[in-house]
Amino acid sequence: MPFAALQSALDERAAQGLLRRRSTAQSPQAPHIIVDGQSLLSFCSNDYLGLANHPQLIAALQQGAQQYGAGAGAAHLVSGHTRPHERLEHALADFAGKPAALLFSTGYMANLGVVQALVGKADTVFADKLNHASLNDAMQLSRANVRRYRHNDMAQLGLLLEQTSGGRKLIITDAVFSMDGDLAALPEILKLCERHDAWLLVDDAHGFGVLGEHGRGSLAHSGIASSRIIYMATLGKAAGVFGAFVAADRVVVETLLNHARSYIYTTATPPALAEALLASLQLIEHGDGLRAHLRRLIAQLRGGLRDLRWPLMPSDTAIQPLLTGDNRATLDLSRQLRERGIWVAAIRPPTVAQGTARLRITLSAAHDAADVERLIGTLHELAR
Ligand SMILES: *Cc1c(COP(=O)(O)O)cnc(C)c1O
Repeated sequence: MPFAALQSALDERAAQGLLRRRSTAQSPQAPHIIVDGQSLLSFCSNDYLGLANHPQLIAALQQGAQQYGAGAGAAHLVSGHTRPHERLEHALADFAGKPAALLFSTGYMANLGVVQALVGKADTVFADKLNHASLNDAMQLSRANVRRYRHNDMAQLGLLLEQTSGGRKLIITDAVFSMDGDLAALPEILKLCERHDAWLLVDDAHGFGVLGEHGRGSLAHSGIASSRIIYMATLGKAAGVFGAFVAADRVVVETLLNHARSYIYTTATPPALAEALLASLQLIEHGDGLRAHLRRLIAQLRGGLRDLRWPLMPSDTAIQPLLTGDNRATLDLSRQLRERGIWVAAIRPPTVAQGTARLRITLSAAHDAADVERLIGTLHELAR
């Protein structure tokens, strides 16, 4: 048994109610989804605008495949960079209000690439303790000194910046925290950046397309703009497709193109995806109606769950976590919902801190008021 140690580690995880398992969907991503043969009302995708299965995106993907084939065939710096990629980068830079943009295959890779390209051993990264795993991995990979501050604790961040001299300083933060749904204090963080001559990497995976005028994201939402900000957003969540981009000053983008290893040493995404994303960007820009509907659903959910046994965490975004605390209780509640045809993911340590297991409810503009009412009613029934 060469792998006995692995088996016992998995057994231990299972005993703590922490073993991960997948469900298999047999229909497109949508509020009503067929999973393992059962029809479910789903509250656990990041498809916040309901674009993942949009006919215009599907048509653009088909047309893109007709014109450019199935695969890019090489990395961007070799022969894989195509006209759709190029047009999408220009459109994303315009949309984000930045001089330039660079496409990455995934948000995970974008974060690894940016941090590794911009800082090294002589430098310091400052990071919120609740940042996404990809930002945490990125700062480790960069070999920079790491200073983590308590969630949104600006006084501590200021102190850590004060105590650091020499080298580059890079602050990295989620804009919308992925497991909590609350917002980073971006205007305050930017002020600290200016005072201490630091750079700021904003990961807007959950704000892009959803927050701000025309869905421009968290920077627009909080009314800030600065050439110090390096803006990263993913394209597999509200944008409904796949991929990620970084928008920033030209010199930053040129640096990434030359030094970000997760950009250089990987195959370009299929050009057809870029075509679908160009269509998605149009729908996002003209999606005020979708965003208004989503805001109404959020208010409906928060109102309906106000006096439930388990509290909703403070959040105004489409991420509405219900704090259940105990790992087993969280899994039980998730299972009971599923028996009643409702799918909400149980989030447990180490994704979140010990004792803060939760049901991560996410809403989409593709839900309707009756869907949300059904979730509210079922949770009240189960709380009794
Ligand atoms: C999902 C997510 C990522 C990773 O993006 P992918 O495109 O899925 O790899 C990065 N940061 C945050 C905050 C995320 O939620």
